[in-house]
Amino acid sequence: MFKRAKELKFLPNNRFLRSMNFRFMVFLFLIGTVPLFVFSGAVLSAYKSQAVTRLGNDVSNQCQILATQIGSTGYLDRVGNETLAGELMQMATLNDGRIIIIDQDLQIVEDTYELEKGRTMVAEEVIRCFKGESTGRNISGRFIEMTVPIVAGGEENKTIIGVILASASTDSITARLEELWRATETWLVAIAICVFALSILLSNWLVRPLRHMNQSIGGLVEGSLDGDLDIHDCTETEVISNTFNSLLAKLRLMEESRQEFVSNVSHELKTPLASMKVLADSLLMQEGAPVELYQEFMQDIADEIDRENSIISDLLTLVKTDRKTTELNVTPTDINEFLELILKRLRPIAATNNIELVFESNRSVNAEIDPTRLSLAFSNLVENAVKYNHENGWVRVTLDADHKFFYVKVSDSGIGIPEESIDYIFERFYRVDKSHSREIGGTGLGLAITRSAVVAHRGAIRVQSSLEEGTVFTVRIPIRYIA
Ligand code: ADP
Repeated sequence: MFKRAKELKFLPNNRFLRSMNFRFMVFLFLIGTVPLFVFSGAVLSAYKSQAVTRLGNDVSNQCQILATQIGSTGYLDRVGNETLAGELMQMATLNDGRIIIIDQDLQIVEDTYELEKGRTMVAEEVIRCFKGESTGRNISGRFIEMTVPIVAGGEENKTIIGVILASASTDSITARLEELWRATETWLVAIAICVFALSILLSNWLVRPLRHMNQSIGGLVEGSLDGDLDIHDCTETEVISNTFNSLLAKLRLMEESRQEFVSNVSHELKTPLASMKVLADSLLMQEGAPVELYQEFMQDIADEIDRENSIISDLLTLVKTDRKTTELNVTPTDINEFLELILKRLRPIAATNNIELVFESNRSVNAEIDPTRLSLAFSNLVENAVKYNHENGWVRVTLDADHKFFYVKVSDSGIGIPEESIDYIFERFYRVDKSHSREIGGTGLGLAITRSAVVAHRGAIRVQSSLEEGTVFTVRIPIRYIA
């Protein structure tokens, strides 16, 4: 119970997280804010490195000037010189740092911090500076440190008589940077909030056509499938709504044909029953009817029962063949032999009507077919050719093939099909002449069964006919079965 409540509670959240709306929102927000933050960070870090370099250059210049002054005036000899000390102090305060002057004996002669005056300095960079190696500039933590040699003498007898060790604090740069960042931060947060609000609006706008579509489909589903989808928000929804409308049209057609089929079936099944009822009633009403009459009527009733039976078995076959799930039982088959066998079975029926039944084959054909299903299909065609024929007529079955298909043609010298009926003969229960078809035992389902079997083989069926001259049915089936 608790678990279910928990699930229900989180369901809307999960749905929102999986929604396109949420994805658009995140995407737009990231696109709007990430470059902004990256750009601000880059600008601030460029500013910092530039400021540090500039400070380093300034301190270095000041040290150079100082070194030149000391070198040329020999200030180092006059340790404790007030002017020098003042100048150093001023420079150190200005840079928020420290300046130490070391003489040739590595003795600290001036220290603006007044901490190490008189001591010996053996720092590595100082010794290197005395050796004439390049003046180092070193940024460590919050300070820039550098060593500058003090040179005395002319061009020929240059000697390093001391070293200035100076340091300057980068705190002011850091403080300025922090100030800048604070100002930028406020702007960035304000912009991020605006971008967030905008991404909510935009993502909602982007998914609006989908919502609209869902509402319209929902309306149709709740209704009676009447009406069409008409969404012109964008090209994509227009395409989807057109496709959906084709699907709706198909559904309506299927529903119509289902209803028609049900009413046809009930009508067809009721006809033999009605006949039987009439026959039975008239027998019952005639008192003392002769046995011959009974026999005759009972024979009629038996015929009607046979008819009802054949309608039901044809219907069952049709339902079975129509079902999508019915897989074909495909086997390689010798089509010549297969057709010969069908004709052999039908020859007695043809003989009773005095109809000549011939088979012509141009080549031997082997194909992958379901013999049971196709045997039914071809039997129906040949039976029809015999049934709807004239006395002493003929039926010709020919077989031909190319590299892809085999073709079976069933021609007859029969009564033909009127032009206006040609389009309907494959429909269930359609008969050109109902009473004639009934008389000769037709159910109106034979051609529907035939077409269904041919289509299941990915084949095609065509018909040509002229009244009182005859009819030709041509069936085309692929030699290799295409699943
Ligand atoms: P039925 O059981 O009535 O024969 P079918 O579905 O086999 O039903 O055929 C439908 C109708 O097509 C028949 O009733 C008949 O009118 C017509 N038909 C079929 N085959 C032929 C043919 N070879 N010659 C003339 N009419 C035909």
